[in-house]
Amino acid sequence: MLVTSGAGVRHECGQAAKLRYLSTLSPSSMEHVACSFLREKLNAADVSSSGDAATASLSSGFGGHPIQVQAVDTSTSHVPQMLHSTMRAMKTALNLSTNQTIQAAQVIREASGNRKAIQPGLKEFLFSEGQSVAHFFAVEQLQFICKQPSGQVISIDRSAVFCCNVSEFLAYVCSLRGMAEMEHHLKLGIDGGGNSLKICISVTDSDGLPAQASMPGPSNRFLNSGVKKLFVLAIVEDVKECYENVKTLLSTMDISSFLFTLACDFKLANIICGIQSHASTHPCLYCEGKSPWTTPAPSRTLGSVRRLANEFQLAGGHQPAAKHFANCVQSPLLPGLDSTELIELVPPPELHIMLGIVNRLLDELNNRWGNDMAYKWAHGAGICRQQYHGGCLEGPACKKLLLKAGELWNILPAHLKMFAVALQDFNAIRLACFGQTLANDFALHIARFQTTCQFLQLNVTPKMHALFHHVPTFCSKSGKALGSFSEQTVESAHSDFEATWQRYRRPFNHPQYAANLLQAVVNYNSFHI
Ligand SMILES: [Zn+2]
Ligand SMILES: [Zn+2]
Repeated sequence: MLVTSGAGVRHECGQAAKLRYLSTLSPSSMEHVACSFLREKLNAADVSSSGDAATASLSSGFGGHPIQVQAVDTSTSHVPQMLHSTMRAMKTALNLSTNQTIQAAQVIREASGNRKAIQPGLKEFLFSEGQSVAHFFAVEQLQFICKQPSGQVISIDRSAVFCCNVSEFLAYVCSLRGMAEMEHHLKLGIDGGGNSLKICISVTDSDGLPAQASMPGPSNRFLNSGVKKLFVLAIVEDVKECYENVKTLLSTMDISSFLFTLACDFKLANIICGIQSHASTHPCLYCEGKSPWTTPAPSRTLGSVRRLANEFQLAGGHQPAAKHFANCVQSPLLPGLDSTELIELVPPPELHIMLGIVNRLLDELNNRWGNDMAYKWAHGAGICRQQYHGGCLEGPACKKLLLKAGELWNILPAHLKMFAVALQDFNAIRLACFGQTLANDFALHIARFQTTCQFLQLNVTPKMHALFHHVPTFCSKSGKALGSFSEQTVESAHSDFEATWQRYRRPFNHPQYAANLLQAVVNYNSFHI
């Protein structure tokens, strides 16, 4: 080895003398020597085209494994590469278009000063990913019923998108999510909100708990039960929310081949099950009882509704006569054995129970307090109704009101304080059986709330009846809280899908309308797997 001394005089010496000489170097000189040596060695190792950093191997003079030294390229080390799956999750989370996602990638590349900040081939990945479920969906013109502004009901042709092979589609989803078939829970959601009739499906783990890390990575950040993992199975725009239209949309798909629970609001649940509305004599979806609900009534089954609806139609099918047939007017649109109870198919919808009861309590309190005092207090407390007058509280506002029941109690006149107690009682129910875990004492909370409502002499509405009588039965039988069956996700599907649809939307009479509705559904679903 040649070492240049400070004076620049070259001389040769033996191994031992060389080592002795090195030990006399100052720490900074030693560093300079090491630096130039390592640089040479790393350059020789050369950075291969794989993009890996160069590695130099240093053997020890005293035996043992060589030390591996890797050069760290400071221009890239702080920017870990973003994988396609990360960009995909970003697209889904923010409802970005494919082009917006590509633009986002460009911003990241520029900001990091590194073209490799994003996994190469993103554009191709997003385009092929966006078509991944295309062959499971189709579009067709079907006849739907439409109500004219004049009130006249007419039949119209409208393009509907639907899943043409539900069981294969579900098998595909399960395989990609790493879920064993039969080990999942299927929740079918039907919703008529936002000017379209939609059938959605959530494929969740059977225990109803958040997904296990079967598929690690960014796409796993979404819960299988959430809206970002929900699929639109069928959709038609701007048709009436009625039995015939739901029947037409459901008839495009074979839903008899799998077991599911249905999540929807009470109004649609009655329509789908062939029962008249909540304004009718026997409004309950789950039993044949009627107000004031003091005597127990037989549970409704698919068989009982089928039989009664048939008898009603044989008797002439005049709507006012339906009360003699427990208000059953049509055959239920859900498949299953006659012995299947409706509560097994349509678990009590927790969101609409809460909305119905909390709004009822607020409205009743407002009436008894007078001078809109309750509404004014709510407004002052930041609990906003859809409109200051006439509107009702939506989900988040309901929760806020329940949490502020203590404050309300403080300012209520003595004879109305029980309303605040009722709100607190209801909140206890919400915590005990409206989430993901069922508290042991949930039935006690329901009984307590019922007693408070009796004290307040509130008429028992169908929703209150469902809470008092059917929620306890459902939760004890299933051993589960209502959260896993909630219609909440289906409700939020409307605005989530809308964000995709607005990029494809065309007017009804546009030649591309059908093709674009299909593309919107395919793109939305492809990124929700
Ligand atoms: Zn020497
Ligand atoms: Zn009932």
